[in-house]
Amino acid sequence: MANHSLLEAIDALKSTRVRMTPQRHAILEFLYETKAHPTADEIYKALEGRFPNMSVATVYNNLRVFKEVGIVKELSYGDSSSRFDCVTSNHYHVICKNCGKIVDFHYPGLDEVETLAEHVTGFEIENHRMEIYGTCVTCKTAH
Ligand SMILES: [Zn+2]
Ligand SMILES: [Zn+2]
Repeated sequence: MANHSLLEAIDALKSTRVRMTPQRHAILEFLYETKAHPTADEIYKALEGRFPNMSVATVYNNLRVFKEVGIVKELSYGDSSSRFDCVTSNHYHVICKNCGKIVDFHYPGLDEVETLAEHVTGFEIENHRMEIYGTCVTCKTAH
């Protein structure tokens, strides 16, 4: 999938029947400005000052809509703290084991792994996910 800019994302929403609201716009804008792969809670905390009537549930529902339209990717880690990524093109993530920071890492897609997995197991492979763990620059220098 192509890498969307904020304007393209807004266009993609317009082309569906999703109504653009000030809250939706603010959530999208925040996602595209931060490269931090925020959780719904972090988005809520960043925007609650501007939208006092907004709840975490509202943020969640909007993120779900964005996900359905294909302009946001959800990175789930087996608990409730899913992180959201507006870079929907294929890329990998390097994750700090200390502070949880996620940094995009662009590397040619390992498509041959999928082909090989398909051959070996007979599965119909859909996608794969690779994560690289370590200590980020900030945490490294804090020691
Ligand atoms: Zn760190
Ligand atoms: Zn990412």
